[in-house]
Amino acid sequence: MDLRRAVAATVLVCAAVAFGAGPASAVPEQVEGTAETRDPSEIALERQVHERELALTAMFDAAERHAEVEGVRADRLAALGYTGNLPDLEHVLPIHDYHLSAGFGLTGPLWESIHTGADFGATTGTSLVAVADGTVTEVAYAGSYGNRTIFTLEDGTELWYCHQLTPLASAGARLEIGEPIGLVGSTGNSTGPHLHFEVRPGGGAPIDPIAWLRSLGLDP
Ligand SMILES: [Zn+2]
Repeated sequence: MDLRRAVAATVLVCAAVAFGAGPASAVPEQVEGTAETRDPSEIALERQVHERELALTAMFDAAERHAEVEGVRADRLAALGYTGNLPDLEHVLPIHDYHLSAGFGLTGPLWESIHTGADFGATTGTSLVAVADGTVTEVAYAGSYGNRTIFTLEDGTELWYCHQLTPLASAGARLEIGEPIGLVGSTGNSTGPHLHFEVRPGGGAPIDPIAWLRSLGLDP
């Protein structure tokens, strides 16, 4: 706020110099006069100064809001254990206290055909978070998937968070990176608490979530 005052004061002083007066005349009340008796160019200059002040105020307000948003985002990512240039971080893991318990593409008696996601074993109630900015497009009980949240990233990639104890974000919600999606559970076809996580580019066939996370620079 001090910077804004300083810039506004500078504008006023510049205007005062342009009027051929000292800085004291920078206070608007001291250069009052009727429109009829004043030089039109002086009135125009005053108007320009006023408009520039308004523009500067808007610019500094926008910069402050941007800094606040970035600060909240950085604090959230720091709380998840991330370090470095946090405002530039675009992806995080969907879960942060886990052990990988089953990979993508496995076959066997546990799965109806082929394992279409990766399993992150974790304690019941462990937080699940948004991998990136996106939108919750579906929250429902989905048979063998149990409580499932479908979270769609801005590029159309669907992320499926399955077997949740409790979904925390509602369909239609816009979430930022690291915001809560739900809690780990064991609903649906599950033998213990874990996140079954699927990655479906464009909402199509699933790909290996671990390889996908690694391609984003993460280390699952
Ligand atoms: Zn699974």
